[in-house]
Amino acid sequence: MKGFSAGKKENKLGCRGSDTAYMHFDDLRIPAWHLLGNEGEGFKQFMITLDGGRISIGAMGVGLAQAALEVAVKYSESRVQFGKPISRNQAIQFKLADMAMQTEAARLLIYKTAWMKDNGYPYTKYSAMCKLYASEAANFCTYQAIQVLGAYGYTERYAAERYFRDMKLCEIGEGTSEIQRIVISRELIRELVPMV
Ligand SMILES: Cc1cc2nc3c(=O)[nH]c(=O)nc-3n(C[C@H](O)[C@H](O)[C@H](O)COP(=O)(O)OP(=O)(O)OC[C@H]3O[C@@H](n4cnc5c(N)ncnc54)[C@H](O)[C@@H]3O)c2cc1C
Repeated sequence: MKGFSAGKKENKLGCRGSDTAYMHFDDLRIPAWHLLGNEGEGFKQFMITLDGGRISIGAMGVGLAQAALEVAVKYSESRVQFGKPISRNQAIQFKLADMAMQTEAARLLIYKTAWMKDNGYPYTKYSAMCKLYASEAANFCTYQAIQVLGAYGYTERYAAERYFRDMKLCEIGEGTSEIQRIVISRELIRELVPMV
């Protein structure tokens, strides 16, 4: 439309398969029939949209955590140091166990939240919790995957470094981790101290 132009594409840390660019609006006139939802309810609608979007970002975190876990498990079985696969070392086993546990816990929290959304339950607190937990699980798992892979983890030869770069968006997009903690605590206070 006249008045709209796409600006410079950003060069990002990760998620490079999805373009992010400036959008310029100069005296742009929008026809009334382009209105999304009801007039005067934009903020409310946006907040509702965010609740749903946070499940998606959480799911992205689980995918990254799972992928990081898989590359770490496979590599640790194939890499032999001091006469045995590195997976035989307890220090590596503990990392893999913690990665698997956090990935599964994040997955279950997302399934629960998606179920609540599908079944019409209030889920604002849960969507913030699942997004936050899955993002931090993805952070932990992608970080540990690089460590398990050693120098190879730091190179592009394996996907671990890309998972680590892509993961960071999960802690920022659809509301930062700090904002999720604010949402969770606000909802908790509303639930437990209804008069406040
Ligand atoms: C790749 C990418 C894609 C994106 N895609 C979309 C999209 O499709 N749609 C969309 O709407 N947005 C999108 N975003 C925007 C994203 O949701 C925001 O960047 C994000 O919500 C953070 O806002 P901000 O960048 O303005 O950070 P700021 O609000 O400036 O925050 C900066 C820092 O201050 C902290 N902070 C801010 N306020 C508080 C507070 N009250 N208490 C404590 N800490 C605080 C934040 O947590 C953060 O650490 C995208 C961002 C990225 C990076």
